[in-house]
Amino acid sequence: MKERLLTLKEEALRELAQVENQQQLADLRIKYLGKKGPLTEILRGMGALSAEERPVIGQVANEVRGAIEEVIEAKQAAYNEAETNARLAAERIDVTLPGRPAARGAVHPISKVIEEIEDIFIGMGYTVAEGPEVEQDYYNFEALNLPKNHPARDMQDSFYITDEILMRTQTSPVQVRTMEKMKGHAPVKIICPGKVYRRDDDDATHSHMFTQIEGLVIDRNIRMSDLKGTLLQFVRELFGSNTQIRLRPSFFPFTEPSVEVDVTCAMCGGSGCRVCKQTGWLEILGAGMVHPRVLEMGGYDPEEYSGFAFGLGVERVAMLKYDIEDIRHFYTNDLRFLKQFVHL
Ligand SMILES: [Zn+2]
Repeated sequence: MKERLLTLKEEALRELAQVENQQQLADLRIKYLGKKGPLTEILRGMGALSAEERPVIGQVANEVRGAIEEVIEAKQAAYNEAETNARLAAERIDVTLPGRPAARGAVHPISKVIEEIEDIFIGMGYTVAEGPEVEQDYYNFEALNLPKNHPARDMQDSFYITDEILMRTQTSPVQVRTMEKMKGHAPVKIICPGKVYRRDDDDATHSHMFTQIEGLVIDRNIRMSDLKGTLLQFVRELFGSNTQIRLRPSFFPFTEPSVEVDVTCAMCGGSGCRVCKQTGWLEILGAGMVHPRVLEMGGYDPEEYSGFAFGLGVERVAMLKYDIEDIRHFYTNDLRFLKQFVHL
């Protein structure tokens, strides 16, 4: 039995010396030390030995097992170390490499202009009001002195969802909703920025969706001169302190009188250029004194209160401010276009 054990040890050590990978090592561990291995088998047969033989053979068997285990553990340790070293090498960080710059986003030019205009009016004591883009016909037209079948409705071809619900064509319904909410209290002093929708054929200067900012002031003794002074202050903050304005008579159903507001061209200072088509003036605002009917429908007595309102297209202002020739650039999200505004 001792002979068998020593032969087993020899065989095992010879085979272990030829091991080439971890799998082979694991296989040999099972082969020699497993429950069905020869060593276990020999130990099971020890019951048949005499009392003198048993401790001698037991000691030899333990030595054989110990020797085989030792070699296996040593080899396993070598594999483990090699694996750790390989992983460390793969995960090695070169702290001297220059950092990768984080990609920086930019505020969209439309958002930038909205924020700038909001800041100017907030500085003059206005608050910002918002309302739904899907709007009732009543708020979008009727309460603004545009009853059904009014010819001026054609000026704003609309996207109707039902007969009474549409995509708002202007931010003016926010003015009506604000008047309703204020329940006849004054002063009202708001600006309403937001997206508006009109059935327009898209081209370089038209879009079926664009951004509007409107303003509304209601109080006692509000006059046309207040409107003019407010707009002059506004355009000077927006385009520069030398900017002049001129008012031309116009028509809007919700204001009376109504005016178109031109500003001196910021590109040429009024001497005439490509942007202002050689006139020296740019038309950027529509405005007027709130129509008595609109005040009345909003819950204000036109005998006691008066007000002014104005509106402008944000895209138009952004195009003038940043010299952009096509309105569609704002909506196509071409990164080459948007990246130009990172540092502005
Ligand atoms: Zn010009």
